[in-house]
Amino acid sequence: MKKTRDICTHESESNIGEYSAVSMPIVQTSSFKFNSYEDFLDIVSDEKNSYMYTRGSNPTTKLIENRLAKLEGGEACKVFSSGMAAITSTLFTMLKSGDHILTIGTIYGQTVSFIKYLSKFNVSYSNIASDEKMDIESAIKENTKVIYIESPSSQHMRLYDLEVISKIAKKNNIITIIDNTWSTAIFQKPIEWGIDIVIHSCSKYIGGSSDVVAGAVISKRDIVDDIFENGHQTLGGVSSPFNSWLLLRSLTTLPIRMKQHDESVRKVIDFLKSDSRIKAIYHPYCSEGKQKELAKKYLSGYSSLLSFELVDNDFNKLIKFVDSFKLFTIGVSWGGFESLILPANKGINHEDLKARGIGESHIRLYVGLEDPESLIDDIKTALDKIYI
Ligand SMILES: *Cc1c(COP(=O)(O)O)cnc(C)c1O
Repeated sequence: MKKTRDICTHESESNIGEYSAVSMPIVQTSSFKFNSYEDFLDIVSDEKNSYMYTRGSNPTTKLIENRLAKLEGGEACKVFSSGMAAITSTLFTMLKSGDHILTIGTIYGQTVSFIKYLSKFNVSYSNIASDEKMDIESAIKENTKVIYIESPSSQHMRLYDLEVISKIAKKNNIITIIDNTWSTAIFQKPIEWGIDIVIHSCSKYIGGSSDVVAGAVISKRDIVDDIFENGHQTLGGVSSPFNSWLLLRSLTTLPIRMKQHDESVRKVIDFLKSDSRIKAIYHPYCSEGKQKELAKKYLSGYSSLLSFELVDNDFNKLIKFVDSFKLFTIGVSWGGFESLILPANKGINHEDLKARGIGESHIRLYVGLEDPESLIDDIKTALDKIYI
């Protein structure tokens, strides 16, 4: 089997084409011409494997698709204009009126909004928090078509047992979909555990530089072909050649960036664990019991998005704390070079936080590529500002 770093740098190099350029050119064209009418007829019959129009396929996009498919251990990949375009196009393709979708654990907010929106098309949904065999089996309905998970889940970073879930789903003829954005294929390979479809927001680690919004779907060839012909072609959430090129450029450094994120997040968590002003930390690296076993089974490394809570719930202290950071930026998204901090508390969402079991001082922290010692100093200084 090809090694991860070699896939990220050299997979499908033969596709690079003209001029012997080392870097894949940005094939910035909307349309491709044909040498003859016969040539056109050949291509139009197999658009996904040929170049006709960039809403379908494009050589720059094709190369990143080949690399992402190989990296994830899937047969094929389709890249999209955003993570949400990948998610919505996949669900549109997989579901029809009368179907039911089961979600397990906490799911990305915008994905939940879309799943709820599908009720307009007579697609129902339910959510369970458990991955126990019995609980899943009793939540499955006759019309359940898709089980959708994120592992680890957002905010509480809970891991779910992919093998258990995929086995039950297969027995019941249900398609399993995982949002693997947090781990990337570098740290978790859901297809090896029987999960059918892997989705990524490439706006995070894969893009890696906070300069691109994109998404990807990886699966067996027939499933990706179905998503291409339906969700991708009809909804049109196409990755531009330039964005596909940015992904190619970032993919070459993904394995070494993830290695650094893993090292840095362990250091930051070791510090947080040692500080009595921190009440709780949510991240697989410091999990216990069954969660620790799941981390050992599924994760070959730790990515660097975590959550923690301060010892008290004073909102004014929280504001002062967050405003005291120098290196951590206040901002949404994650996966880029820059460290980020963002509390879940927006001052107006107490009921929502309570319903989701999220504490008033719950803070999401993203550990970027700065020096980990400087990041720890930044956290220490901010804590000192509020706990004198
Ligand atoms: C950001 C994110 C998405 C959405 O991706 P976009 O590229 O922003 O559309 C989906 N899932 C997870 C886990 C994310 O973090």
